[in-house]
Amino acid sequence: MKEKDIRDKDKLKLYLKLVQEDCKAFLNSKKALVKVKCPACQEDKHILEFKKSCFEYVTCLNCSTLYAKTRLSFDSLKEFYGRSASTDFWVKEFFMPVAEARREKIFRPRAEFITEYFGKDPAWQIGDIGAGFGLFLDELHKLWGQSSYIAIEPSLEQAELCGKLDLKAECSTLEELKGYDNSFNLLTAFELFEHLYDPSVFLSSVYRLLKKGGWLFLTTLNGEGFDIRILWEDSKAIYPPCHINFFNPGSIRHLLTREGFEAVKIETPGQLDWDIVEGAIVNDSIKLGKFWETFARKGKSEAKDELQDWIRRNNLSSHMRVLARKK
Ligand SMILES: [Zn+2]
Repeated sequence: MKEKDIRDKDKLKLYLKLVQEDCKAFLNSKKALVKVKCPACQEDKHILEFKKSCFEYVTCLNCSTLYAKTRLSFDSLKEFYGRSASTDFWVKEFFMPVAEARREKIFRPRAEFITEYFGKDPAWQIGDIGAGFGLFLDELHKLWGQSSYIAIEPSLEQAELCGKLDLKAECSTLEELKGYDNSFNLLTAFELFEHLYDPSVFLSSVYRLLKKGGWLFLTTLNGEGFDIRILWEDSKAIYPPCHINFFNPGSIRHLLTREGFEAVKIETPGQLDWDIVEGAIVNDSIKLGKFWETFARKGKSEAKDELQDWIRRNNLSSHMRVLARKK
């Protein structure tokens, strides 16, 4: 898989520009910025790494989580996602044209991972948090016909799209979802943790909704992964006020354990690290030294594939996949 298969680079640039503009408008309207402790271990010892706009990104000296120490408050962030031009662009212009490609390249393999890991259909109640267009649940439904599926999606527009796929949709945030305590066997949350104002609060809601022994399957960004570490403050994955938490395999284990989960599997099966770095060198003229410059421009595709495979096998990708269980 290549980056161009799942996102248009020009649209990504435009989206990030819109986010900046929306963010500026929010800050001008005197929305409060707040300072937080490490979202993984709650310690407050950190070093400043860089600033993006007026948001300080720091590394926790206890658990190495990279996080935005300054961030929009919970309510401001909710408002930001609810009514900003950038969110509208992301849904209609950025995601929609590649939705079917993403179904094939991302959501179907995720559904297959689940069915391979757990075996034959256990007739579970399964919920996808931030279900978007419902593509993941739709794919899982094709493989496990006996299980029941609930798309948990705060955007009314997207919840309606889930309804069209014959999925039960709950138009709600996870924290506000009522009537499902101790009822899910499996909850999924894809590319959400990097966005969360307070991942601990989010996990306590997941804990409340899962049955005892129920599973959480999540994917998020690994702040110790290849493309993020190489590109660092030039990484497009690090952008305020949206991407604010970059856990790593150790710190996400710590967080899950503290919130009453057993972290059963933490791995980084990413496929795009090198492609992202190459794109930054070739298309964006980011300077990363002579070796990477030469490798990006003259390296053989087999060598690049081998590098990505090495990154994946050694748990060094920026894309992290986690399976955890409620104790
Ligand atoms: Zn920490």
